[in-house]
Amino acid sequence: MNHDNDCIFCKIVKGELPCVKVFEDSLTLAFMDISPVAPGHVLIIPKGHYPDMLSVPTGQLKAVSRSVQAVAKACGEAFAPDGINVMQANGAAAGQTVFHLHVHVIPRNRGDGLRLHIESGPSAEAAHLEAIAARLRTVFES
Ligand code: 5GP
Ligand code: ZN
Repeated sequence: MNHDNDCIFCKIVKGELPCVKVFEDSLTLAFMDISPVAPGHVLIIPKGHYPDMLSVPTGQLKAVSRSVQAVAKACGEAFAPDGINVMQANGAAAGQTVFHLHVHVIPRNRGDGLRLHIESGPSAEAAHLEAIAARLRTVFES
């Protein structure tokens, strides 16, 4: 399995740094976030080192997705929260601080005061949306 010697999450996978483990299978590991934004805040990672969701091979992304769902369901059963956020950042501009792919599972409760929601922007004109979508479709068609 590929690891990066300078990566803290690789060190956790290799047992060189401690973590509070929740779940693991052959390809993934789930552990408690060291600075939780809510009780039950869990991180799910592939055991191999991939900086983000764009670089991880599809098979390992599937394994991560499976574990994310398992952890989210466990979170629902264990804590019965009002809701659950599943969040993931790619790149510093998107808020990523650890550059080993990880997905956050965060139990939510009404009035918990966390501001993690995507809030809608102003409505866009259809022509504007069409022009943006055309740029994306070009990538799929090439
Ligand atoms: P990001 O901002 O990259 O989406 O999330 C990184 C997360 O990793 C943060 O929520 C942070 O609290 C958590 N984190 C950073 N270092 C460690 C660590 O050494 N152990 C654990 N368990 N979590 C960490
Ligand atoms: Zn790593």
